[in-house]
Amino acid sequence: MTLVPFDPVRVTPEEAGRYPLLWDGDVAVIGGGSAGAAAAVAAARHGRGTLLVESAACLGGTGTAVLDTFYGLYAPGGAERVVGGIAWEVCRALTDRDAAFERLNTYGAGTGVTYDPEVLKVVWDELARGAGVAVLLHARASRVVMDGDTVCGVLIETVAGPGHIRARVVVDATGDADIAWRAGCALERPRADRVVQPLTQTFRLAGVDPVRTTTAELHRLMREHGDSGAYDLPRREGSAHRTTAPGVVHTNLTRVHGVDPTDPWQLSEAEAEGRRQSVEYVRFLTERVPGYERAFLAGAAPRIGVRESRRLIGEYVLTRDDVLSAREFDDAVARCGAPIEDHAAGRDTIWRYVGSGDTTPTGRSYGVPFRCLVPRRVDGLLVAGRCLSATHDAHASVRSMGQCMAMGQAAGTAAAQAAAGGTRVRSVDMATLRERLVVDGALL
Ligand SMILES: Cc1cc2nc3c(=O)[nH]c(=O)nc-3n(C[C@H](O)[C@H](O)[C@H](O)COP(=O)(O)OP(=O)(O)OC[C@H]3O[C@@H](n4cnc5c(N)ncnc54)[C@H](O)[C@@H]3O)c2cc1C
Repeated sequence: MTLVPFDPVRVTPEEAGRYPLLWDGDVAVIGGGSAGAAAAVAAARHGRGTLLVESAACLGGTGTAVLDTFYGLYAPGGAERVVGGIAWEVCRALTDRDAAFERLNTYGAGTGVTYDPEVLKVVWDELARGAGVAVLLHARASRVVMDGDTVCGVLIETVAGPGHIRARVVVDATGDADIAWRAGCALERPRADRVVQPLTQTFRLAGVDPVRTTTAELHRLMREHGDSGAYDLPRREGSAHRTTAPGVVHTNLTRVHGVDPTDPWQLSEAEAEGRRQSVEYVRFLTERVPGYERAFLAGAAPRIGVRESRRLIGEYVLTRDDVLSAREFDDAVARCGAPIEDHAAGRDTIWRYVGSGDTTPTGRSYGVPFRCLVPRRVDGLLVAGRCLSATHDAHASVRSMGQCMAMGQAAGTAAAQAAAGGTRVRSVDMATLRERLVVDGALL
């Protein structure tokens, strides 16, 4: 008997054939966050059989689990919107239901669209259903099916056990480059010697009168009471902003440093530390900040927010220089004007703006090349969202949800184009792809 070595992350098409075939089609998108949901809607709207696999109970990813404000839609310092298409359709659907409003950010990323995350879940459901996307929730991709260097499906774990998904193109929108990692793509990964953005547990407080304390005053109080040692406040700035619900603020205050979010033990400890810090920030806010005297913890995100983990090293790696010099690319499939927002720098956040390279917003933006979504050697796979190919600094600019949705739309459209034409996804005709994106409302 020949012993076949067991590969924990990859299987051949023959091995995959031993599992129940749950779906067979054109485009399988893994991960239903901002990038993945947009990718699936785009692929399905272009007439391809599309599956969206998400391990959580709803779509939206970090956008519905952790946050409530889309950034990246506008370039700070200018009034121009730089993202359209599906992202803007989502904003309009939220606004039409009175579930979103534009909020001028007082200290960094420019105008954001603050929304009700519960309504966003429904909006994504409706967009996916309307486009004809098959959605599998509570399903986690666990192994990649590879024919040589070509990805041709995944194995997933579902409530009914394992199953086989066969697809012409797979889009990795897992945030953690989970599929690219399993497929053996070149990746940049968290390491002890490399600074990784900290994790944040977000939470909401109800019973607040937010207008009684400005952001500047809140930051001053954090410094005063943090420095005195009365409270353990690892971050001395950050946001506690009004939401779509009266008297409710959403916070982005806690900061868990030095964590490799791809290490299961470290991630588990970070969850506990995020909860501990949340309770401490609530104590500080209610005891020291005007407007919070009667506030109470209305809810915490179901999981800690991960800003940065594994990233693809793709056909092109977006750099700090590309961002700060507002570089244009012939194969741009999305735009970004968001500054480099680096939380890894200690207690404060460092901001460096596109076009100026310093703390002056210019309203300028840069292009995100398609090549940042394309793995170097592996075929049949695209990557979209926060696991795109970018350096740490460039990633700190391009990771906002506005850009993740735009990249997702681009990846989904490209995947559909490749599946329809029987071409390799890395070789899709760029003029056609960009033309389709523009017709579909993308701003390039
Ligand atoms: C604390 C924090 C604050 C931030 N603040 C803002 C902000 O205010 N505004 C803004 O625009 N951006 C903000 N960002 C950045 C932004 O939220 C993220 O970069 C963006 O949401 C990433 O989107 P994504 O679709 O790439 O990944 P995600 O939204 O993380 O989605 C990935 C999805 O893939 C699923 N998944 C993962 N692995 C698998 C698998 N193997 N099988 C099936 N499913 C899988 C996950 O469950 C998840 O739903 C913030 C990020 C953090 C962490």
